[in-house]
Amino acid sequence: MLGAGRLRGLGTRAAPLWPGRAGSRGLGARIRARGVSTSWSPVGAAFNVKPQGRRLDLFGERRGLFGVPELSAPEGFRVAQENALRKADLLVQRVCSVAPGPQTVLIFDELSDSLCRVADLADFVKIAHPEPAFREAAEEACTSIGTAVEKLNTNVELYRSLQKLLADKKLVDSLDPETRRVAELFMFDFEISGIHLDKEKRKRAVDLNVKILDLSNTFLMGTNFPNKIEKHLLPEHIHQNFVVAGNHVIVDGLHAESPDDLVREAAYKIFLHPNAGQLRCLEELLSNRDLLAKLVGYSTYSHRALQGTLAQSPETVMQFLEKLSDKLSERTIRDFEMIRGMKMKLNPQNSELMPWDPPYYSGVIRAERYNIEPSLYCPFFSLGACMEGLNTLFGRLLGITLYAEQPAKGEVWCEGVRKLAVVHESEGLLGYIYCDFFQRAGKPHQDCHFTIRGGRLKEDGDYQLPVVVLMLNLPHPSRNLPTLLTPGMMENLFHEMGHAMHSMLGRTRYQHVTGTRCPTDFAEVPSILMEYFANDHRVVSQFARHYQTGQSLPKNMVSRLCESKKVGAAADMQLQVFYAALDQIYHGKHPLTASTTDILRETQEKFYGLPYVPNTAWQLRFSHLVGYGAKYYSYLMSRAVASMVWKECFRRDPFNRTAGERYRREMLAHGGGKEPMLMVQGMLQKCPSIDDFVSALVSDLDPDFETFLMDSE
Ligand SMILES: [Zn+2]
Repeated sequence: MLGAGRLRGLGTRAAPLWPGRAGSRGLGARIRARGVSTSWSPVGAAFNVKPQGRRLDLFGERRGLFGVPELSAPEGFRVAQENALRKADLLVQRVCSVAPGPQTVLIFDELSDSLCRVADLADFVKIAHPEPAFREAAEEACTSIGTAVEKLNTNVELYRSLQKLLADKKLVDSLDPETRRVAELFMFDFEISGIHLDKEKRKRAVDLNVKILDLSNTFLMGTNFPNKIEKHLLPEHIHQNFVVAGNHVIVDGLHAESPDDLVREAAYKIFLHPNAGQLRCLEELLSNRDLLAKLVGYSTYSHRALQGTLAQSPETVMQFLEKLSDKLSERTIRDFEMIRGMKMKLNPQNSELMPWDPPYYSGVIRAERYNIEPSLYCPFFSLGACMEGLNTLFGRLLGITLYAEQPAKGEVWCEGVRKLAVVHESEGLLGYIYCDFFQRAGKPHQDCHFTIRGGRLKEDGDYQLPVVVLMLNLPHPSRNLPTLLTPGMMENLFHEMGHAMHSMLGRTRYQHVTGTRCPTDFAEVPSILMEYFANDHRVVSQFARHYQTGQSLPKNMVSRLCESKKVGAAADMQLQVFYAALDQIYHGKHPLTASTTDILRETQEKFYGLPYVPNTAWQLRFSHLVGYGAKYYSYLMSRAVASMVWKECFRRDPFNRTAGERYRREMLAHGGGKEPMLMVQGMLQKCPSIDDFVSALVSDLDPDFETFLMDSE
């Protein structure tokens, strides 16, 4: 996933001052770890070998987090934040005094950059730094920059400077497409504050924004809140599966993987039992979003949210979801029958299929049909091997090498963090990826990509190099055992590296649209595409080798793994379609035709198929309604595009350099600076229809005949 740290409006995310260094130091010759007989390339060794006798640089100069000199101590955040705000003031004055033109957009972007460089870095530090003092200082910096951004978003003089440019048709026509798009994006951010309205309406918009923010936070907290039930109401033998406190049993999740049907049923009914306060909060959130959208000139919140996206309108999204649902329905029914069959086999007394059954029984079928025990795979997926695999892949596709660099003292927040320089064979250094891969106490559990600093062309002609962090939660290596990944972890690593390469290869003029700062329904294309590579035996056999013997992973083990993922996959996708449709309806026409629970029941019947369970309200646990409001469909749509790109451009030869270069040129290079559909068109060399999107997703569910042949051998 992508880091959520987006500041609305001008402060749209980016990062630290850094001397642009042309070269980079590799780790040098092959390193041989004690007790490990396989040798690794430098990048493999950097991740597989526990650093031994690492030079302790006691007297070297402390450089500060991410190389930002001020940030060698928590107090530095205040200095960095004050500098940023001072610079922002100067830039505001400047942009208000220049004649409207391309210069206006450049200054806007610099203004945004100066704030984002602190805010985005602080956004990351406040959740990831192991030291509380750093986290608190970062939190303060976020708040104060957030407040400054709010002020700028309602600064009428600043708004007019941009409006003057966009109102002059001749001037707008003279702008290059990227500059025009960035100007429009800045304007779009302004307008949600109601700045273009009269004074009274503007005040209402500001109030609504504040209220929506409050309701969002309250709702988010409520989505995780446990529910409790009096002990005597639950059969005693299942108490042990939950937390018991006094006379109550506390249920804090769905327990979807529990083998006991009764535990899953109880968890489902208790955890999803409606909470009146949370229900009110959601209904208020949705209606306030609707009011705000109408106030600033849209017919629904969804119409506002989908501007500038790949889908472009709620109508297209619903068409996509309905067509997908139709195409899936037969396969979904077959999946449900298969899952029901397994339930009948294991629990003949009670074999009706209920919403709490599919994840568990699909898992049972997968394990029974395919021998995919993670422990069989892990030894082949040492972290170093996987990093070598990525390095080889990027090398062959894009002419890019990853070099492990030794971070300076104070540059990283934790000892296990590795720094990668991303270097192109002729263009040189493109940017840096900090790899915060290992578990530690208090670290968020989410695998995530964070933009710390966006790329942009500076006024002096230099390119500000992008800097990102990839955060995973892998086990630590020990002296004799490198970190071993399960197939799922390996796929996640590829996914997150897809985001990182989007950031590294984006060469936008403006940081406002750097790398992953693109429409939500396009943002997951590069990362999901990497999952296709991670599941291709030609790619996997390049790198998956036993960490002790060096033996390659047999082809049929890779194929078995791929096929196993198709078990119950239609039903899974159908569930996602249901969630996405629900999100659209909630953010569509208001007032809603019924309560959110009634809408859930209707939508579940139409788009999923398993019965609604009375007295439950799953929507109150749907946290993505906050962050993705009206864009939950994005993941499905990104997957459809990634699937088409894979099939058209890489399936025949996953190492094809020509396809790789085209991918870079047509898709990655533009970040969010180009209409997403134009990027897709450039890549596929045709304009795909909704039907093409749907077929791409559905055909991925078909079994691969080659695997069947292999298994019958
Ligand atoms: Zn992602």
